[in-house]
Amino acid sequence: MPAKIYKNLIGGEWVESRTGQTYENLNPADTRDVIGIFQRSDKSDVDEAVSAARKAYEKWRLVPAPRRGEIIYRAAQILEERKEEYARLMTREMGKVLKETRGDVQEAIDTAYYMAGEGRRQFGATVPSELPNKFAMAIRMPLGVCGMITPWNFPMAIPSWKLLPALVCGNACVIKPAEDTPLSTYNLVQALTDAGLPSGVVNIVTGFGPEAGAPIVEHQGVNAISFTGSSEVGRIVGEVAARNFKSCSLEMGGKNAIIVLDDANLDLALDGVLWGAFGTTGQRCTATSRVIVQKGAYRQFSDRLVYRVSRLKVGNGLDETVEVGPQINEQQVATTEKYVQIGGHEGAKLEAGGKALNKPEYSYGWFFEPTVFTEVDPRMKIAQEEIFGPVVSVIPCDNFEKAIEISNNVPYGLSSAIYTRDVNRAFRAMRDINAGITYINAPTIGAEVHLPFGGTKATGNGHREGGLGAIDFYTQWKSIYVDYSDKLQRAQIDTGE
Ligand code: NAD
Repeated sequence: MPAKIYKNLIGGEWVESRTGQTYENLNPADTRDVIGIFQRSDKSDVDEAVSAARKAYEKWRLVPAPRRGEIIYRAAQILEERKEEYARLMTREMGKVLKETRGDVQEAIDTAYYMAGEGRRQFGATVPSELPNKFAMAIRMPLGVCGMITPWNFPMAIPSWKLLPALVCGNACVIKPAEDTPLSTYNLVQALTDAGLPSGVVNIVTGFGPEAGAPIVEHQGVNAISFTGSSEVGRIVGEVAARNFKSCSLEMGGKNAIIVLDDANLDLALDGVLWGAFGTTGQRCTATSRVIVQKGAYRQFSDRLVYRVSRLKVGNGLDETVEVGPQINEQQVATTEKYVQIGGHEGAKLEAGGKALNKPEYSYGWFFEPTVFTEVDPRMKIAQEEIFGPVVSVIPCDNFEKAIEISNNVPYGLSSAIYTRDVNRAFRAMRDINAGITYINAPTIGAEVHLPFGGTKATGNGHREGGLGAIDFYTQWKSIYVDYSDKLQRAQIDTGE
């Protein structure tokens, strides 16, 4: 059967790209499986999408927020009904195992229920005025048209973190999903459309970053940009947005560490590292990429980790017994290979994995052995740079203070974790680790949607997704003064002195 052709969604119509070009979306576990043919869009498509969004915005902003919330609530119910179908499609297009893609859809459902409730909150402030017979308040206003650019690793959850708060706040949107995983964004938007979202309020333009993403960032009709992806691309996006005075939220890379102290429950820490490092095949911004182990536990912990990692089952994520799926594409495998070589040259000890899998059952996909380096020095590249693959570096350390120092001494600051039974040290870690997220006795992954999500240093530019942080980003404050004194009252001047 020929692969289905997916079109852009502009002003409520499914339309072909003006470029006349398309590209194939392939299954990373089996590249013979074509998920669909998608539009390879450029600036001309973005221009149309932004015009449609601008038009729709003028009506959407006037829809009462509780009504907007109700549409999102219905979308949550539709997503629940389609959860299994969408999860299976996501495993096919992105590769991660089914229980994780079910989690990805669930994250969109959770976000939808949360943001539906925001339809009846979006709290502002009423405050006393300094003058008599005067009323003062601050209300939240939408921004206008929001441009969104997303990565492939959470193909429905991340678009939902952006679209749903933006919509409930009254914005219209143009989204460009990652080129490797556009279908999951289509599915999310389909649920919104079926729930009654008016035409043009969300527009999808598919294609590659410089061709279809950059024009969104540059467009004068786009008021705000929300980007999730690499720090390298985020820097470009942030610079262009700043030149055009756009609000811009950047969520970028990570080099997350789990600290394991001598007093930790090692069984628990081991389960945490396996899940944190090899869940989503290590391709999470919050993936555990470093494990900093205190010297008393170091040898035993490393040996047990290597044993467990070498037994992980790698394969097609649609097989429920598989624990680790493929990487997303050929380049990502090449990056992992490059870092494994670098680690070897730097003198780290390769104790598990280290190679792309090439047995016949793996020959059509992008599979890589789950890999463990031990005896890693914290200054090595493999301990400093984001790899985004199934590789974990175990770093020995002397004591708690040193562990915190190593954890902090990287360019990124997204997620972090510590395993200890010492409550004092746990609280010092909560205070002293420089990251947006810290887990105690749990791995670096597993964010919940109603808490702020984001990081410090090269991970972010100060905004947060999730919960109230998202409402803050997708609204701007307006202060309103109502003077009912019937005379001119001058602030700071008519002080009554
Ligand atoms: P990427 O930066 O290569 O691409 C992200 C998106 O940006 C894609 O849609 C891409 O097409 C687009 N893009 C590329 N060049 C562009 C340009 N010049 N202008 C505009 N858009 C452009 O990242 P990726 O490989 O898709 O995702 C992996 C990265 O995302 C990792 O670094 C990971 O840590 C990060 N990430 C961060 C978070 C977070 O919330 N902090 C979450 C998930 C992933």
